[in-house]
Amino acid sequence: MRRVTILGATGSVGQNTIDLLTRAPDAYDVVALTGGGNIAQLARDAIALNAEIAVTAHENRLQDLRAALAGSGVAAAAGAEALVEAAARPADWVMSAIVGAAGLKPGLMALQQGATLALANKESLVCAGALVRETAARNDARLLPVDSEHSAVFQALVGEDMAAVERIILTASGGAFRDWPLEALERATLAEASCHPNWKMGQRITIDSASMFNKAMEVIETYELFEVEPEQIEVLIHPESLIHALVGYRDGALMAHVGAPDMRHAIGYALHWPQRRDLPIERLDLARIGQLSFTAPDEIRWPALRLARAVMVRGGLSGAVFNAAKERALDGFIAGRIGFCDMARVVEDVLSRFESDPGVIDAATTLDNVMQTDHLARIRADEMMAKRVR
Ligand code: NAD
Ligand code: MG
Repeated sequence: MRRVTILGATGSVGQNTIDLLTRAPDAYDVVALTGGGNIAQLARDAIALNAEIAVTAHENRLQDLRAALAGSGVAAAAGAEALVEAAARPADWVMSAIVGAAGLKPGLMALQQGATLALANKESLVCAGALVRETAARNDARLLPVDSEHSAVFQALVGEDMAAVERIILTASGGAFRDWPLEALERATLAEASCHPNWKMGQRITIDSASMFNKAMEVIETYELFEVEPEQIEVLIHPESLIHALVGYRDGALMAHVGAPDMRHAIGYALHWPQRRDLPIERLDLARIGQLSFTAPDEIRWPALRLARAVMVRGGLSGAVFNAAKERALDGFIAGRIGFCDMARVVEDVLSRFESDPGVIDAATTLDNVMQTDHLARIRADEMMAKRVR
């Protein structure tokens, strides 16, 4: 029996992970499930999977969670510290599927106890890539990518030498506004930004796909995970979302990963790695699909891609500034405080405030430094947004 924990079990990636676990219930011993305000879902899954403990991030919901779990034998806990403790419980495989920088500390805890960390939470690599890598190395723990593009790259690299890699190409669907006239973007609404043409995901990553902040974060994630140079990473618009990424080798070969847009593939690959097992994924009928299309990304439409390049060049804690400013700008857009295009303006403003700050550029990537920078960048983002109120 493999001991498994799911951080962010009630979310989109968490629920897809549970779907795979429930198909082979005898193979897994579930240690902890964590969630947020969706107490009923968290309790239902914890009882069905017979978890040791269920944890809600909301400190004030402990009584509700206890009530929902009454008589089941599943322990209940609440709050950020309880979540970190749950991540530190011995497990063989931990899914990191909390959204945002809130996923960093629990993920580090899982690595510290030597678990294999299946990483969907790209924000932890964007804000603290070096720290995540070092923590994994120091504890002899393995990091496996779950983001579909990075799982695709990882699979295209099997048996290859990194020295033979010339470039990594991440595909992007183009999100909700790929074909919108540029001038219409300023007025894009929350409802319009919350629809993805191909993937069914949580609301935050869906909006980040429309603004291309998701791909910008994935470029940084690629840089941190595969340790290639920024110039080796390319983005390609591919509206069908069937090729998830390509790796280009020095002999000119391109290895593409092709598959249906279903996160259970990347989750299942990380769950069964280094083996491949049966997965309930649609088999593509390429003759019926007929054609795949590609275009170059437009950096005027999607300034986030340009900002990601600046972050990689500056290094230090620039990724923590970028991620925190983006999270606050996204909160601002969701709350109706700023417009769709203001998100990139806020992030660019905040990045420029910290551009030559030695506390950011020269600081070591320790957890304390990352959290402090994250905190300061959120304050700056709030100040910028206060000036931009519509
Ligand atoms: P989601 O919003 O559907 O779920 C997020 C989960 O995190 C929920 O369980 C929620 O309760 C929990 N959570 C939210 N805020 C929290 C906090 N402050 N503290 C503790 N827990 C908190 O998100 P999602 O779409 O499943 O995405 C999860 C992560 O995976 C993100 O980093 C996202 O970028 C990444 N990812 C998602 C997909 C996808 O298909 N959804 C694909 C690739 C990568
Ligand atoms: Mg992705």
